[in-house]
Amino acid sequence: MTPTASAALATSDAPAAENIVRCIDVSRVYHLGGEEVHACRAVSCEIPNGKLIALRGRSGSGKTTLINIMSGLDKPSSGKTFLFGRETTHLNDRELTELRRHRIGFIFQAFALLPVLSAFENVELPMRLAGLSARARQRRTTDLLEMVGLGRRMHHRPFELSGGEQGRVAIARALANEPGMIVADEPTGALDSVTGLQIMMLFKRIVSEKNVTIIMATHDPTISEIAHETLIMSDGEMSRDIPEELQGTGILDAMHMPGTLHGEIEMAASGRGAGLDTRIQKGGPTGDVKLPPLP
Ligand code: ADP
Ligand code: MG
Repeated sequence: MTPTASAALATSDAPAAENIVRCIDVSRVYHLGGEEVHACRAVSCEIPNGKLIALRGRSGSGKTTLINIMSGLDKPSSGKTFLFGRETTHLNDRELTELRRHRIGFIFQAFALLPVLSAFENVELPMRLAGLSARARQRRTTDLLEMVGLGRRMHHRPFELSGGEQGRVAIARALANEPGMIVADEPTGALDSVTGLQIMMLFKRIVSEKNVTIIMATHDPTISEIAHETLIMSDGEMSRDIPEELQGTGILDAMHMPGTLHGEIEMAASGRGAGLDTRIQKGGPTGDVKLPPLP
């Protein structure tokens, strides 16, 4: 195929290559006992490559619904979602499964590790499903577990690990097939705030080292200080303005208050507590995620 022909094919309705996800007027309606629940209402946004994106909003605002649509677990009732340039409503279940398996990593709130498998086996499993050779699996699994600071705990089972360590196993597993995007739905919800901060700092480091985009749904205000961009869901609609009710104090702000765990927070933020070498860099809005102009 000539370069001209492939460029022409790429232009049809597809997003620019640097966008991992593009939602155009995405709505999702659930039908429940004869009633309609509008979980997403005309959401439009473009998620660029290589960013940590926070998705905030109160419970029931539509975060999980949107994350499921953005990761190809669900399809919009109306509107379009492009995932790595492919419109999801045009893909059948098998094609979507393939896309997810090879290009998207998932981290769930309770981490969903298999209890009978060791940390190593949990991380290795997606590589087995993808048909990677034993040798490549061994090397990549070891590298990933070392990267998340669990080199010495590889053969522990989940119940022998702390909550934060289980989170790290889930992160390593999400990276198993070298995805272009990781979605994390309230991954720090069950962790204490210092451990949660360590996980967020690890996300930030992964984004810069692995050139992967991470979308993290969370209540935690701290994420807005760390993420490159914060998107807000409110009653199914998306905006960039953080409403007052969500403005609370993040753990990094708490560092400046008397009587808090200064040492621990500083250590987590610097990555030292977890054998990481990332220093905090305040994210702040960069304007990378494109939203339509506000009405
Ligand atoms: P969040 O993750 O922000 O808490 P959700 O996306 O889970 O929000 O839910 C958004 C709205 O959609 C809520 O009102 C919720 O009750 C409703 N909802 C979510 N999933 C379903 C479903 N499978 N069937 C019916 N209603 C649902
Ligand atoms: Mg949710």
